[in-house]
Amino acid sequence: MPSEEQFRTETVSLPQLQDGEVLVKALYFSVDPYMRGRMNDAKSYAPPYKVDEPIVGGGIAKIVETKSANFQKDDIVQGSLPWATESVAKGQSLQKIDTSLAPAPYYLGILGMPGLTAYFGLLHIGKPKEGETVVISGAAGAVGIVVGQIAKLKGCRVVGIAGSEEKIKLLKEEFHLDEVINYKTTPDMKKAIEETCPNQVDVYFDNVGGSISDAVIANINFHARIVLCGQIALYNATEVPTGPRLQPMLLTRSALMQGFIVGNFKEHFREGIEQLSQWVKEGKLKYEETIVEGFDQLPEAFLGLFSGKNKGKMVVKV
Ligand code: NDP
Repeated sequence: MPSEEQFRTETVSLPQLQDGEVLVKALYFSVDPYMRGRMNDAKSYAPPYKVDEPIVGGGIAKIVETKSANFQKDDIVQGSLPWATESVAKGQSLQKIDTSLAPAPYYLGILGMPGLTAYFGLLHIGKPKEGETVVISGAAGAVGIVVGQIAKLKGCRVVGIAGSEEKIKLLKEEFHLDEVINYKTTPDMKKAIEETCPNQVDVYFDNVGGSISDAVIANINFHARIVLCGQIALYNATEVPTGPRLQPMLLTRSALMQGFIVGNFKEHFREGIEQLSQWVKEGKLKYEETIVEGFDQLPEAFLGLFSGKNKGKMVVKV
């Protein structure tokens, strides 16, 4: 588990703007669990962060000065930005956002990477059918909260798993999940899944991995689909843990387990954003955010993801 001492801030001079570049003032930053993976010196789908260089992640910013024909001063943009109050970026790396359609931080959450992850992971891999049982771990987080609602829209029975009574109440009362399990106070998760899923689990949207997933997978139905989205319970592990061997369960249930990275679906992002925006506009999808204030709170907000400090999307307002 990283600690705040592993982060520091510095004051630096920015380079002169070159043609095609913009000077931006950061408004919001996204903190995401995948960033933990980039802190390992290991080959992955995103390159490791470099020691002594700023963290880079999803951000929303305002154009302060522009030498790019694509932007005007005061445009609000999103893109991959360094954790810096101001920075110089290439115009082509940023996209303008329309804050009259949705509040700016939504573009880091429901109308951004986490929303698209929920949409494509559930619909393209999970393929839920009306009346089926969908179980979601990390159900009160940025991705999970969207998965639960889409599964309800598709007519499924939805069981969420989360780590506090406050989150359980939120998922039941605001997001109308059929059953919610607090994994921190439930001694026998396998039994809890058995009891809340009498017809067994048809789709498991896995955001966390570890023993929670072992308990869910022990209860899968024939032809179940397991959507391997995240494994946050293992991101700080220093050794590869040995869990139950899952292959016999997958074999005897003719089940499918598939990992994915949201970028796999980038040709379809426009369709995803249009559908998610439409559902938000129609009031069919609601959203929850935890907005932490202050640039200097970035490390604490990021670390808070690993102890469940967020409900919905964790965002830092600069
Ligand atoms: P969340 O908003 O869900 O935040 C993380 C949550 O994970 C915490 O709030 C906490 O909730 C839970 N958590 C933390 N540690 C543990 C643990 N040891 N065991 C169980 N739960 C834990 O994050 P996101 O919605 O952004 O991401 C969810 C998952 O999806 C992550 O694993 C992430 O890496 C993955 N992801 C994958 C993508 C892909 O392309 N495949 C894209 C985006 C995200 P609680 O209080 O309930 O414990």
